[in-house]
Amino acid sequence: MQRPLGFGGGLEVLPSARLRVADLVEQLERSRHAYYLGAPLISDAAFDALEDELRGLAPGHPALARIGAAPTSKEWEKARHRLPMGSLNKVTTEAEFDEWLARCEALLAKDGLGGIAKELFVTEKLDGLSVELVYGGGLFQDGLTRGDGEVGERITANVRRMRGVPNHIREMGSLSVRGEIILRISDRAAHFADYASTRNAAAGTARRLDGAGCEHLTVLVYDVSDELEFSSEAEKLVFLRNLGFATPAGFVGNAEAVQALYREYNEERRGALDYEIDGLVVRANSVTAQVQLGELNRRPRGATAFKFPSPAKLTTVTAIVWDTGPSGRVTPVAEVAGVELVGAMVRRASLHNAANVRRLGIGVGDEVMVSRRNDVIPYVEEVVSSAGTPVTPPRDCGVCGSALRQEGEYLLCREDSCAARVEGRIRTWVDAVGALEWGDKLVHALVANGLVREPADLYRLTVDDLVKLERQGKKSAENALKQLRSRLPLRLPTFLAALGIEGFSTQTARLLVSAGYHDLGRLLAADATALAAIGGLGELKARRIVDGLLARGPELERLREANLGPVASEVAGPLDGKSFCMTGKQRRPRKELDALIEDNGGRLLSGVTKELDYLIIDDPDSTSSKAEKARKYGTRLIREEDLLAMLGPA
Ligand SMILES: [Zn+2]
Repeated sequence: MQRPLGFGGGLEVLPSARLRVADLVEQLERSRHAYYLGAPLISDAAFDALEDELRGLAPGHPALARIGAAPTSKEWEKARHRLPMGSLNKVTTEAEFDEWLARCEALLAKDGLGGIAKELFVTEKLDGLSVELVYGGGLFQDGLTRGDGEVGERITANVRRMRGVPNHIREMGSLSVRGEIILRISDRAAHFADYASTRNAAAGTARRLDGAGCEHLTVLVYDVSDELEFSSEAEKLVFLRNLGFATPAGFVGNAEAVQALYREYNEERRGALDYEIDGLVVRANSVTAQVQLGELNRRPRGATAFKFPSPAKLTTVTAIVWDTGPSGRVTPVAEVAGVELVGAMVRRASLHNAANVRRLGIGVGDEVMVSRRNDVIPYVEEVVSSAGTPVTPPRDCGVCGSALRQEGEYLLCREDSCAARVEGRIRTWVDAVGALEWGDKLVHALVANGLVREPADLYRLTVDDLVKLERQGKKSAENALKQLRSRLPLRLPTFLAALGIEGFSTQTARLLVSAGYHDLGRLLAADATALAAIGGLGELKARRIVDGLLARGPELERLREANLGPVASEVAGPLDGKSFCMTGKQRRPRKELDALIEDNGGRLLSGVTKELDYLIIDDPDSTSSKAEKARKYGTRLIREEDLLAMLGPA
């Protein structure tokens, strides 16, 4: 029988967990101390993760009693909030949400008051940096970070540059508005390519002394202090919107509706947003009810953060590898001790690019925060505790050994014969021609064994060649070869797209064909100036096409010698001039049907429009909205078999 350690929660700590508890407490104390000295070690989110883990192992540990962190910089002037910026209690499951609600209801009932479950107010819980905006006489006066909730940093000059912060507002009284500084995902892609974590980019940029980049940040506001009288939370949000502030989405509904909304957000809505959220904030919509419920430890009882399943967790780096991708781009990847994130076991996390690796200062043995926000590929957000030796980006390609080139934030292998790039080109070829039996593993094995160096080699393979490769049975080898050959001859647009030249999609190829470049010979003879004159192409793309074709010249020659060259597009396909769209299930894989249609001159549309000639559907008598819409436009509804019949005898 183990003796309980006697923490407030009354739970026993098992000996195996004691070391970890001591470790966590030490890390938390060290981080908190560093914050006060103005030299932060880790982000608020990492701090929360450490705290969460400690709470799980030893609920009620005294180290958990303190909240927040003091402001972190020596340089920004410190300023006291007019009203403390408290934090929220949180729930992470529907059961916990119900318990929170039941507690509120019970408290109110004790005072003979009505409940709140019928009318709750919900906003998105933004994943950024909290900020207080102060207005007086209709003018923006101050922007303060949250800091420890009492004292924050006056980053007014930076906030003034951010989007969503009006300089003038109609309301002339004094006003304190609460919001969150966020970085839109689209803005991160455009302006902060070396950051893997959107929130870290936002927090880092917002506090930069020179303010650089703040013009790409956005402030979304969600609350206003009580200088003005409001009867409901919803009223506050409308008031803020009317003043010209940007706000997150807001909802009013009963407990059941909130649960449904939570599920909807977690499954779909969240992934479709242009900013990151980590949950919903739920409050009693009635301001009176909130006042009656009061606060406990500076956290309002009548509000809670309804967090999504933990998007970030702590784990340890076991190795750092540099993967050369099919385009030659080298991506650093951290191999980590397995950790479950949003329902998936994560063992590899992206480090994005070389610049990000330098910024993180990451090394093997480091404890890191790994995150899988919005269901993207997991990535390393930050180093929580360093083992001491940061890794340096390699000079040479790990696959072919040739020297890497730095282009922008990325390292690139430019060696055409690099197996990773050869594999990329072969994969593009089999994908584009619609040879679906040729999976990534087979292509990898073919390239690794030196059997395939360029597309023409694919057509020289024999059943024996494939059978010799591991796990390739005779039957499936025959099928693969048969499928590849069944795509011949290739039409020009497909052929060009299959080459995988940068900026050369099937669409671009079609544009060229419609501009009179019907056959490969004519295209190869064209110069960049002539191509640039084609509407919608432009100089840069034209140059890439000419250079790309030139670089693949000998390879194209070998394809032509092997009679694998493209058919001129003047030769009419049976589907020429007809457009197609598919809905529901088909017997053949979608990609294969797409390739069939395009190879035979047909055009694919993504939806039902007036231009659509044929809708391919399992049941042409269907009364689905798509089917009805198609009928309205005079589109013909056909089955997969009808499409195959249109192609003529196989
Ligand atoms: Zn290489």
